[in-house]
Amino acid sequence: MQDKVKVEARNIAMSYGKTQVLRDIDLVIEPGEFFALLGPSGSGKSTLLRLIAGFNQAQSGQLLIGGEDISRVPPWQRNVGMVFQNYALWPHMSVWENVAFGLQERRLPKSVIGQKVAATLALVNLEDYARRRPNQLSGGQQQRVALARTIAIEPKVLLLDEPLSNLDAKLRVHMREELRTLQRKLGITTIFVTHDQEEAMTTADRIAVMDQGVLQQIGTPLELFDNPANRFVANFVGTINLLPCRLRKASRDMVSLVSSSLGEIELPRLPHAPEAGDVEICFRPHAVTVCVADSVRDHEHVWLQGTVSGVEFLGEFVRYRIRVGSTEIIADQTHHAGTTPFTPESTVNLGIPRCEIRFISN
Ligand code: ADP
Repeated sequence: MQDKVKVEARNIAMSYGKTQVLRDIDLVIEPGEFFALLGPSGSGKSTLLRLIAGFNQAQSGQLLIGGEDISRVPPWQRNVGMVFQNYALWPHMSVWENVAFGLQERRLPKSVIGQKVAATLALVNLEDYARRRPNQLSGGQQQRVALARTIAIEPKVLLLDEPLSNLDAKLRVHMREELRTLQRKLGITTIFVTHDQEEAMTTADRIAVMDQGVLQQIGTPLELFDNPANRFVANFVGTINLLPCRLRKASRDMVSLVSSSLGEIELPRLPHAPEAGDVEICFRPHAVTVCVADSVRDHEHVWLQGTVSGVEFLGEFVRYRIRVGSTEIIADQTHHAGTTPFTPESTVNLGIPRCEIRFISN
């Protein structure tokens, strides 16, 4: 295993012609970290990854690998390995030849190449497939060859551009676990581009959420999910209820707020909560309790009465849409065998735990 390196982007801006696609990108990726760039299509993730690889050139800002400014260093001298979305394997070469290719280009002795290819194929469990051509492999195996080919050259930084998107849903779940295990084993600083929040949450140590070329929030999966910094992150990472409201007054340990649709709700005072004004509150669907109307209430929850307007049975849980006045709230309830979900038009009570309600101010 080689030394782990830090990757830093400082104030990077990049445009294609007049269209600015990256703005004020400031990012520190720690040595050995598995870091995901997450965002919708067109948010600038691949542009940033290609910039780190050296295939794109920023108009301004600095890029550092292991503390060294590499902004002007050509791709082949950066010691960075990239796995492309379509794998880009050589179709006329065997698995062995595909993995050996980068090592042969580096003019290593034949015996060293042989050892490195064998070791890398063992690492991705492809020892028995060395003689096959890419078209004789499954999608998952091709993906592993692409990975093996990249890690064989022992790059300091591994870049993965939507590496799982060509695989079917079940295999994707399996491969993301494999990828995580391999990354831990290698300890190589890895940057992973994905538009799939579940993929990012399950594999990455930390995630940077991007929208329209701007970093919206950087944090661990838990931080992003529990404390989204803004409306975009709240909506993009998981499902959420967002309701406009007005903070009316703030006291020392309680704030009182008036939501236009839910009436007046008292909430504990939260760090970083604004003093007063127009904001939004948010809470996750799984935090809400749905029960029969007029059942027991407590002070830990905000209790509301509503009418079920939609029911989706998803196996592990039931997703309800519940109308409360002019607002619709999404509530996910764990399903237990033998129980029957509420039916549309049922009147229900719903409880929102006060401690799970967050403020969003932009
Ligand atoms: P993502 O990877 O998040 O889907 P990209 O980085 O590929 O987003 O693209 C960001 C923006 O830059 C998009 O609006 C896209 O249309 C534009 N873009 C990407 N590549 C080029 C290019 N070679 N020329 C012009 N515009 C481009």
